[in-house]
Amino acid sequence: MIKANNLKKVYRVGELDLTVIDNLSISINEGEFISFIGPSGSGKSTVLNMLGCLDTPTFGDIEINSQDITKLNKTQLANFRGEHIGFIFQSFNLIPVLTVYENIEYPLIMIQNLAEEERKLRVEKLLKEVGMFEHKDKTPDKISGGQMQRVAIARALVTNPKIVFADEPTANLDSKTAHMIIELMKKIQKEHNTTFVFATHDEKIVENVDRLITLVDGNIVEDVYTKRGQHE
Ligand code: ADP
Ligand code: MG
Repeated sequence: MIKANNLKKVYRVGELDLTVIDNLSISINEGEFISFIGPSGSGKSTVLNMLGCLDTPTFGDIEINSQDITKLNKTQLANFRGEHIGFIFQSFNLIPVLTVYENIEYPLIMIQNLAEEERKLRVEKLLKEVGMFEHKDKTPDKISGGQMQRVAIARALVTNPKIVFADEPTANLDSKTAHMIIELMKKIQKEHNTTFVFATHDEKIVENVDRLITLVDGNIVEDVYTKRGQHE
């Protein structure tokens, strides 16, 4: 489903070229619940952003659903991302002036040219799935952090992506709320067979994934399938 070969990422910082990822290759299979772990600054977000089409590698190629995304121009890449990928962020990134309902509907208006009736069906189904239906007319400032992340999850899923990337999705939540959010993502992964790719420090996510990839200084130092992955 995802195949990345010899990825390199160089950031230009003032006069300096900073090589953050060098020669990283990885394959991710359909339906995997997988996490990158590793110290802060080890390159987790950089890798997620490249695999998730938010950023482009300096060298190397990335194939997603048999499409080499490094061959696409900016507009094509944005369209590809809209069709195939959902993204969940640590800080939720909801649009403050839109309601819960409108935040979830937004990608459908921006990316997929769906009829209003079909949009409504999709948004309402997801509102129910993430337990936010009764809050649909509130703006983000009127709901809690856990509720904001539920909305962000629904927004990531509304286009029916095959792959969802989640960068530290529980880092701004208390542990009980984080637990509920993880359970929600597990349920969604099972029901939709969505591939979930995390970057996290959260032990509770680590306990729940099928596969753990440890990054240190931009290198994969360990790539293991967990017990959950082998037995389920
Ligand atoms: P992690 O998500 O594991 O904390 P990041 O991918 O955010 O790691 O960062 C990896 C390294 O790249 C760090 O040294 C960070 O300072 C650097 N870095 C990340 N983004 C940028 C950027 N936009 N410009 C310059 N350096 C960056
Ligand atoms: Mg990060």
